[in-house]
Amino acid sequence: MEKTFPPPASPSPSCVLITSRCYDRRMPAKVPWIPSVLPPGARPERCPSCGRMALIPWTLRRDNDTKVVLRTWVCTECQTLVERPEPE
Ligand SMILES: [Zn+2]
Repeated sequence: MEKTFPPPASPSPSCVLITSRCYDRRMPAKVPWIPSVLPPGARPERCPSCGRMALIPWTLRRDNDTKVVLRTWVCTECQTLVERPEPE
């Protein structure tokens, strides 16, 4: 008998719809919240701003013009945001 894996936890599609509607009505100021502690299991990189090992991958977005997937990295120490192209 094969083991079945639990379905991956994924954000519900309604979240995306609500978000895009919000974007239409009023542009939210950047981000709702910024992590201020390293999540368990995080593999932080060195922050280009404060130099501490606290830069973690955070959100993904796709650039509408270039179709490039961009990963926003955030420093949990100084809250610096860094956007890098994400290899697919
Ligand atoms: Zn920093």
